[in-house]
Amino acid sequence: MAGDSTKPVVILIEDEIQIRRFVRMALEAEGCVVHESDTIKRGLIEAATRHPDIIVLDLGLPDGEGVDFIHDIRNWSEIPILILSARTEEKEKVRALDAGADDYLTKPFGVAELIARIRAHLRRRTSGKNENQGVIEFGSVRIDWQKRIVERNGKILHLTPIEYRLLTYMASNPDCVLTQKQILKSVWGPSHSEDVHYVRIYMGRLRKKIEDLPSQPKHIMTESSVGYRFIL
Ligand code: CA
Repeated sequence: MAGDSTKPVVILIEDEIQIRRFVRMALEAEGCVVHESDTIKRGLIEAATRHPDIIVLDLGLPDGEGVDFIHDIRNWSEIPILILSARTEEKEKVRALDAGADDYLTKPFGVAELIARIRAHLRRRTSGKNENQGVIEFGSVRIDWQKRIVERNGKILHLTPIEYRLLTYMASNPDCVLTQKQILKSVWGPSHSEDVHYVRIYMGRLRKKIEDLPSQPKHIMTESSVGYRFIL
């Protein structure tokens, strides 16, 4: 294998060559190794073989929709996926996040913001291991901080990095009312303070994974028009 294994590996799936070129330059200046792809097909091969730390994905690609790529990847990987798209409608964002994307940046975008978000996702992947050494249990769920494993009824629960961060953030602040802005800032980062739909979508996803009856949650409680409260 070529390259420096300590450098973060980014897969960039984008069919506009100009965007690929400047994103690549910016990421390489940040010390990342970048593998490019202009199709979903090639992107899947890159994702499966390059051991990436993050995927940056365009939605409209010549051989299909980025959302289909996300569905495919999420069958076998929880790698962070950041969407880079000209589609600004909320329903497009919701679709991508629902499929399992972790972040969404609309074109035109500032390269500084893109880099900041990628850095935040990469940090999250490497940090967090030492935040808390113990184990938290609630209902049929068990979070092992040290091993970074969440189990439900003794079986491993597959969470994306954002889902994991959201769950551990909530679980380490039990019984507190957490506003949507606090949650956004702590889980997604300060640049996301307006993206309240992220919180709604991810709370729905987490409830499906950890609650016995997602429609009648016992742990992730909605505090109407304020935010959420976690009950252990
Ligand atoms: Ca495109």
